[in-house]
Amino acid sequence: MPKRAAVATILASASILLSGCSGSAANGESDQRPVVLTTFTVLADIAEQVAGDHLRVESITKVGAEIHGYEPTPGDLRRAADADLILDNGLNLEAWFGQFVEDLDVPHVVVSEGVEVMSIADGSSEGLPNPHAWMSALNVQLYVDNMVDAFAELDPAHADDYAANGEAYRAELQQVHDELVAELSALPENERALVTCEGAFSYLARDAGLTEQYLWAVNAEQQATPQQIARTIEFVDEQGVPAVFCESTVSDEAMQQVVEATDAAFGGTLYVDSLSEPDGPVPTYLEMLRHDVDVITSGLTEGAR
Ligand SMILES: [Zn+2]
Repeated sequence: MPKRAAVATILASASILLSGCSGSAANGESDQRPVVLTTFTVLADIAEQVAGDHLRVESITKVGAEIHGYEPTPGDLRRAADADLILDNGLNLEAWFGQFVEDLDVPHVVVSEGVEVMSIADGSSEGLPNPHAWMSALNVQLYVDNMVDAFAELDPAHADDYAANGEAYRAELQQVHDELVAELSALPENERALVTCEGAFSYLARDAGLTEQYLWAVNAEQQATPQQIARTIEFVDEQGVPAVFCESTVSDEAMQQVVEATDAAFGGTLYVDSLSEPDGPVPTYLEMLRHDVDVITSGLTEGAR
């Protein structure tokens, strides 16, 4: 048999062998690690930093998904039923989640447990917790502590590694927090205003001493009404805000109306409810924070010229 034909024969029988064991290598069934599912991509990245290589961490919702009003599919339910642990943010972020886990016999942990909660200031969700607690790196240190505990319980053999990974990541979180506070608090007073589509930046604004203004309080309640747009235009005019922003998971159409009606520039797209694809601008949580602070700072500074 000519050499090339022999190789082809070996390859063909190898692929028959592979398909004979129901393609386990291809769909990951040969991966014996415990499976941790998170409700969205930001939590998945944080969980991966703590898990290292010991756990298989995946997000239920995909990159770019609208996570507040997400509607889980039958496929999501099947994946969740096979998971070993489910992590959710809590604070009413995932409106769909309570019903989702009700019938599942899988442990779940609320990673925001212990965070000092900020309330939503207005709108139909007024007084309820603002769910976007991960926009403070200091809060995420608590998320990490909760994950370290949850992973140690799930997989006690690697408890020391989870603790060490958590410790190292906590230090990075502290560094990013210190950087962003230094950068944003150096802006002149009138530039220290953060105007966004969703009121998703309350925790970041608190950490960095920014005044927060938004079109609507939480995605999934009434969005971009004429009253909300008028109120935002008034704020921008009164404060002389140089630039306004909108988030990657919602339309920026209403914010463009604010730009047209005022002297403010459109400062750019911020990430909060989802990471980007791996080759996009914010493949990890820490890059998301750094990216947002860069966009805010340069948007406000350049808009002020
Ligand atoms: Zn949100």
